[in-house]
Amino acid sequence: MTGLGSVNSNYSNSQYYYLMPNNNTISHTYKENAEEQIPEKTILTAGLLQAFAIFLHKASKWCGNKLMGGKEFTNADNINKVAQDMVNKNKLNVNVDFIDSNNIRKYPQALQAELGPVARGENAFYTDRFKLAVAPKSKPSLILHELGHAINAHKGKFLKALQKSRIYVSAVPTALLILNGMFKQKDNNPNFVERNAGIIGFAAFLPTIAEEGLASIRGIKAARETLGKSINLAPLKRNYFFAWLTYLIAGIGLGVAAKQSLIENKR
Ligand SMILES: [Zn+2]
Repeated sequence: MTGLGSVNSNYSNSQYYYLMPNNNTISHTYKENAEEQIPEKTILTAGLLQAFAIFLHKASKWCGNKLMGGKEFTNADNINKVAQDMVNKNKLNVNVDFIDSNNIRKYPQALQAELGPVARGENAFYTDRFKLAVAPKSKPSLILHELGHAINAHKGKFLKALQKSRIYVSAVPTALLILNGMFKQKDNNPNFVERNAGIIGFAAFLPTIAEEGLASIRGIKAARETLGKSINLAPLKRNYFFAWLTYLIAGIGLGVAAKQSLIENKR
């Protein structure tokens, strides 16, 4: 979906594997009017980080718009054929559906909130719990990425662990804050945690970035296998690249948020 600004915090929800990150869990609220004496350098760094966080937010929206504005690489029938092949060849126990404002009502109330953005053509997701992969009827090709997640969930412990890691990422800034307190140095010089908060935050997101990329690669490979070499996969690759970029940006955003939480703590 396009909205990093949406209020729902599904982004760190283990149940749903979205095409794009789904909220602003990682963007950090900022305290204003700190009264104590703060070193000028800290204020400057905080300001720069905040500006960078805003830039990332905009960049992510831009990628989301690029993705959703991109063309479909083939028609809905062909996409459905690829999707069914992915399900059958991998023996997935997953229902595949293409959502619009009409068929959304057949789903239980609990799912309808999650399906709203899908019906509006803003996102797609796979959920392990409901064994369901959905894409917008207006953008069916997104289903192949979601089935890529379903295959990842199905293929052994390592990939499953990569997937599950995203449950914890939103806790990273707080965890670093606690670690930083534990390793406070007597001379008040920055310790390892403080010096590397940004890179540690980003590193925590790397498994998610990798798993997202792999889900797309599986979708692209399946399209080639089912539809043959004559089909032009360039529009699909382009769309998936922009989707992946939103996760890369979210990872950088987590690094920024981690750094911000430590700086804020200093104030
Ligand atoms: Zn995804």
